[in-house]
Amino acid sequence: MNIILLGPPGAGKGTQARTLVEERNMIQLSTGDMLREAKDSGTEMGKVVADVMARGELVTDEIVIGLIREKLQGDKQGGFIFDGFPRTLAQADALAELLDEQGESLDAVVEMRVDDEALVQRITARSTCGNCGEVFNDLTKPWPADGKCSNCGSDDVKRRADDNEDSLKQRLMEYYKKTSPLLGYYYAKGGLRSVNGLGEIADVKASIAKALG
Ligand code: AMP
Repeated sequence: MNIILLGPPGAGKGTQARTLVEERNMIQLSTGDMLREAKDSGTEMGKVVADVMARGELVTDEIVIGLIREKLQGDKQGGFIFDGFPRTLAQADALAELLDEQGESLDAVVEMRVDDEALVQRITARSTCGNCGEVFNDLTKPWPADGKCSNCGSDDVKRRADDNEDSLKQRLMEYYKKTSPLLGYYYAKGGLRSVNGLGEIADVKASIAKALG
């Protein structure tokens, strides 16, 4: 099963993708994670995208399509979860072609709906474990008082450089201008399902499971 999790920054795509990885042996393909990895390891591409990402703008279609193309050629396990990709209509067309080349298809596109106020609250309070990627929130799920990640025990707490109010405004603008048209695109293609992304993690997870059937 190959699925897209579609939603604005802070909708919980990464968190839900991680549970699907654990429970369905799927592979999470997060272009944001791939780009951050490239940035942290100082590759040429990482240097090129660092400023763009910090400003909250989208990196070029060519770069992210190249990253996804590489991953689709690897092991497929229980299928792919596209998290943060596609973000433009050109990326959506490219994904259809890439899957086709691999003899694969898209089984579902799950829209995660969250209101904008909640997004701002979530993102400005967000931290993640640098080791395992577990997501924390200062208000609803704070980093443990003993300083160690509750999932893996690491003390590597991280805040994303672009999780600040200015970048977030830009990221939201990019979402509404360039990514939200994908909802209409996938509705017309068939396979779009919507879930309420605002509830508890377990409730959202149950809604996604239901949407996937
Ligand atoms: P994310 O972790 O998905 O919120 O992505 C963080 C940042 O990486 C975004 O604000 C963009 O600058 C960049 N990015 C991630 N995925 C894409 C994509 N599919 N297309 C363009 N830029 C992307």
